[in-house]
Amino acid sequence: MANIILLGPPGAGKGTQSKRLVDERAMVQLSTGDMLREAKTSGTEMGKRVAAVMERGELVTDEIVIGLIEEKLKGAAAGGFIFDGFPRTLKQADALGDLLARMGQGLDAVIEMQVDDAALVARITGRYTCGNCGEVYHDTTRPTKVAGTCDVCGSHDMKRRADDNEDALKTRLMEYYKKTSPLIGYYYAKGGLSTVDGLAEMDAVATAIAKVLDRN
Ligand code: ADP
Ligand code: ZN
Repeated sequence: MANIILLGPPGAGKGTQSKRLVDERAMVQLSTGDMLREAKTSGTEMGKRVAAVMERGELVTDEIVIGLIEEKLKGAAAGGFIFDGFPRTLKQADALGDLLARMGQGLDAVIEMQVDDAALVARITGRYTCGNCGEVYHDTTRPTKVAGTCDVCGSHDMKRRADDNEDALKTRLMEYYKKTSPLIGYYYAKGGLSTVDGLAEMDAVATAIAKVLDRN
């Protein structure tokens, strides 16, 4: 069992790799981005409050995301938790350390997925996902075999994120460099930081992550 963080800018491939770990290792993915989007569609008060913030590409408040994570950590995870898109600020990182310590657990690895900014823009602006099973596709690099139909589950419910456009992406990148990238130094100093090349092929990235996990 391992608790791990996938750390990297928007479009680094955190979601794609998380899904593989869930399938292959019975790990539980905790994506604050997915949780916030769910809150948005379910129409809760909190969902309405964060929708505009997310659409602009800014970070929502620490209190909200820490509360979401705290709730989910009450559930069981046989293979451990994958923190995907959390923590994103130093305050969130400290809070996660405290929450895990209270459960008698720790972090087994923090995996930084390195990619360059030009590649991110191309990746993100062509991205769409299956609304039913969550499979991730791309207009040019990984289209569905039949247009508009999910290869995995056959659903026709393809979705594009409201913040996957060039303007919001600029803000998301700026937020990442200002508020999230300091976590690389933070976890390096704490110990447990590993770096993988996020620009490699999907399978190669998965292999690199597996190596880190099997070392623990
Ligand atoms: P990406 O990593 O591709 O930007 P996510 O799905 O992780 O996408 O996040 C989408 C948006 O949700 C972020 O731009 C931000 O507004 C909000 N969000 C997600 N996680 C956090 C977090 N830990 N702290 C603050 N805001 C968050
Ligand atoms: Zn599908």
